[in-house]
Amino acid sequence: MHNVITVDHPLVQHKLTLMRDKSTSTKGFRQLMHEIATLLCYEVTRDLSLDLEDIETPMMPMRSRKLAGKKLVFAPILRAGLGLIEGMLDLVPSARVAHIGLYRDPESLVAVEYYFKAPADLGERLVIVVDPMLATGNTAVAAVDRLKEHGATDLRFVSLLAAPAGLANLHSHHPEVRVWTAAIDQQLNDHGYILPGLGDAGDRLYGTR
Ligand code: URA
Repeated sequence: MHNVITVDHPLVQHKLTLMRDKSTSTKGFRQLMHEIATLLCYEVTRDLSLDLEDIETPMMPMRSRKLAGKKLVFAPILRAGLGLIEGMLDLVPSARVAHIGLYRDPESLVAVEYYFKAPADLGERLVIVVDPMLATGNTAVAAVDRLKEHGATDLRFVSLLAAPAGLANLHSHHPEVRVWTAAIDQQLNDHGYILPGLGDAGDRLYGTR
């Protein structure tokens, strides 16, 4: 699938299976989400540009590589996106965080915005949108729309699970946004949930059901 990277790393697949299992506790699910986030973050940042910098080791001067450009922005879609953020910040502690509050109207499945706060200079940074479940894609499209309205031009998307319909929807609106995901599942049910999926990611993270 064009512009979709499935992260096949054995640790990612193992942790995902544990997360899918309905007998995994809230505590276990949250811990696994944290761990898998670091692995997804490793993959989504794999091709970041580097600059050379003059430094001195205790032995001698040298030119060595450092990340180029401005700090990244992670943009979690509330609330389930928050579950991935701490693990990603473990790897990129200086990243900025843009919060996007969107919920799916349960009847129409349309994304409704209730909060948005992002760094002012989004246009100068790589923005990585974060949502564990790319289901219908309506929330993903709305989040990318809003980030672009605020100036973002360089965007990527990280999810744990994606549905083919959600990927198609996102790419019909934003074809250039590359998606990193641990798996592409079969389909959606009538309520827009991913099958076989892992259930409601927010509820499983925060124990609200
Ligand atoms: N959101 C979830 O939390 N789970 C799904 O399966 C789809 C959307």
